[in-house]
Amino acid sequence: MTERRRLRVRGTVQGVGFRPFVYRTAVELGLAGSVWNDSEGVLVDAEGPADRLDELARRLGEDAPPLAAVWSVEATPLAPAGKGGGTAGFAIVDSRADAAPAVAVSVDAATCTDCLAELHDPDDRRFGYPFVNCTNCGPRYTIIRSIPYDRAATTMAGFAMCAACRAEYEDPADRRFHAEPNACPACGPHLRYLTPDGSVRAERADALEQAVADLLAGRILGVKGLGGWHLAVDATDTAAVAELRRRKARDDKPFAVMVPDLAAAARLCRLSAAAEEALASPRRPIVLAPRATGSPVAAGVAPGLPELGLLLPYTPLHDLLLCRVGRPLVMTSGNRSDEPIAHEDADAVDRLGPMVDALLGHDRPIHIRCDDSVVRSLPRGPGRKSTVQMVRRSRGYAPEPLALPVPATRQILAVGAELKNSVAVAKGAGVVASHHIGDLEHLPAYRSFLQAVDHLCHLAGVVPEVVAHDLHPEYLSTKFALDLDLPAVGVQHHHAHIASCLVDHGRDQRVLGVAFDGTGFGCDKSLWGGEFLVAGLDGFERVGHLAPVPLPGGAAAIREPWRMGMVWAGAAGGRAEAERFGAASDDRWEAVLALAGADRTPRTTSAGRLFDAVAALLGIRSRVTYEGQAAIELEALASSVPPGEAPHYMLQVPEPAAPAPGGGGGVPVPIVLDPAPLVARILAERDRGTPVAVVAAGFHNGLGLAVADLACRLASARGLGTVALSGGVFQNARLTAVVAAAVEEAGLEVLVHRRVPPNDGGISIGQAAVAAATSAATG
Ligand SMILES: [Zn+2]
Ligand SMILES: [Zn+2]
Ligand SMILES: [Zn+2]
Repeated sequence: MTERRRLRVRGTVQGVGFRPFVYRTAVELGLAGSVWNDSEGVLVDAEGPADRLDELARRLGEDAPPLAAVWSVEATPLAPAGKGGGTAGFAIVDSRADAAPAVAVSVDAATCTDCLAELHDPDDRRFGYPFVNCTNCGPRYTIIRSIPYDRAATTMAGFAMCAACRAEYEDPADRRFHAEPNACPACGPHLRYLTPDGSVRAERADALEQAVADLLAGRILGVKGLGGWHLAVDATDTAAVAELRRRKARDDKPFAVMVPDLAAAARLCRLSAAAEEALASPRRPIVLAPRATGSPVAAGVAPGLPELGLLLPYTPLHDLLLCRVGRPLVMTSGNRSDEPIAHEDADAVDRLGPMVDALLGHDRPIHIRCDDSVVRSLPRGPGRKSTVQMVRRSRGYAPEPLALPVPATRQILAVGAELKNSVAVAKGAGVVASHHIGDLEHLPAYRSFLQAVDHLCHLAGVVPEVVAHDLHPEYLSTKFALDLDLPAVGVQHHHAHIASCLVDHGRDQRVLGVAFDGTGFGCDKSLWGGEFLVAGLDGFERVGHLAPVPLPGGAAAIREPWRMGMVWAGAAGGRAEAERFGAASDDRWEAVLALAGADRTPRTTSAGRLFDAVAALLGIRSRVTYEGQAAIELEALASSVPPGEAPHYMLQVPEPAAPAPGGGGGVPVPIVLDPAPLVARILAERDRGTPVAVVAAGFHNGLGLAVADLACRLASARGLGTVALSGGVFQNARLTAVVAAAVEEAGLEVLVHRRVPPNDGGISIGQAAVAAATSAATG
């Protein structure tokens, strides 16, 4: 019995070889019909026996090409056209001119196994060619200048395909059918080896030879990647790594290490199944994982940290380099300390020239700067599957859309926060976040922000009707948003964090959200950062927070954790305790203490600053050279104590007031959780000579269990069954594990970030989701 059906496929299904995949599958199943792209994804019109049509729908969902992400396949019946199956034929139809896709471009993807095989096959015409790619792999987002996505719109426009490449490109049965960056040694880009001042010294295979010789000799090399330049050096060479650190003016921030394959990765780090899967995936993020004992990597790669950031080669050039050098290589972003990564060749010579001994570049331009993404391997709880958490969502993930729990009825631009900025656009069922842009206080990052807003709107075909922004009036992103002539939706920072966690899990519901971070602008104009919110996408209520304390010196208080140490010493042990710690820490302590007591000094409930304070009080770190360093080192020490052996420093939780009967009684006052008694215990243990790691572990347990206890009580008082954990502090795996286990123990569900960063990199996604939900509610 012949039937005809229309299949609507939604998700990331364009520019990823989906139409040829449908074609092959349909032909294999003997179905007639056609497939084409439209603005919502891919449409298939198929005719044949019902069981074959069922099979087609199933395979489209389950066997999709590696770069595709299928959200749904919906079938609707059509009247049969009487073509029958078999030889009547199946066709790939050109996209209609009016069919602006949801997102025109897919993510950059690591070299696939088929292309790698060609790269290493002496008989293949692409043997040793560092730009081999196909429909299943290669550059996308970073080379596209405009839409529609075809070669002329990419940075490959200057390379005309040779006859052999053209034949592959035009053959629907070929792996390179419509692979826009398709190239070979006869027609494509080539390597260049440059001196630090930019003069070309070698090309093609000779360029590779020279670069390999440099790396083996411990020299520092600039290497052009997909989304920008890296600085590369032999990771096992202590002197070379120290020299790189000196030239880059990067005191302690860890470097990522590239290794040739999973086996080499497993020699450097202890890898969970999820960590291995992430490392080897076509997205190829940097994976943070615990170091294996006896790893040959120089200590200077990640000073004082028990974890290493590993990644596998993701371009054919990386693969050739790693194979030839045969050692792990530092691959850190090509910039000086906090500047954005260099991506244009002239800029690379200007900025990287003074730092490198040579540059290995090529003549395929990078259009969009895109840093490596970072995920962190989370320790496995009892009975739990291993998982990874997004820390920086950039290359390999941007611009893949995420599903919005509440679709956007108007087109939205969300401009994100100030630090770790990303921007996002939303229309219909999807939200598309940009690559990692960086800290907007740096002018080059702000320029990158402006470019990203334009480019993302263009690629996603979004003409913003609403702009969502943070409430902080001094954020450059906020100022930008308010200067646009558009209706603006101000989204409170911690509400955006919780909303981003809801998007991560595809939820539209109310939860008890715990948002712990550095600081964010509160509705009362104070600096929030240790918040308990009853929140849904369409609104929130602040039902609890950490006790507020002074933040003496704004940004200086972030760079110098001893300042918060002194504040918390005072809160826990009185003025004498603050003076004792201040005097032992810094010459300026009296002025800072006076500042802490002044009326004009802002107050904060920041959990991040509490972690800084404890790290300072324990003598771990009184000054930081990168954001979060003190808290990261505190966590590292705590994690050196097995969970079963860690003490629990009890912190009493106040009882939430029962909701007023009948709903009267005005706005309830938020509950205050005061960590001072916990800090007092830490001071006592320190003075008693308890090992610092044990005290750090006791602090994590004490705070984590108190947070879980309060969250569960607040949730139960409102009849909520789910607790969501968000904010940069929940990148702390030890704290997250303690809180999550206790919430689950209490019988509630816990949502932890996986795909969206818990830090401010996820704020734009949360803002977009809130704007979508509130615009939907108000029409
Ligand atoms: Zn390939
Ligand atoms: Zn060619
Ligand atoms: Zn934040």
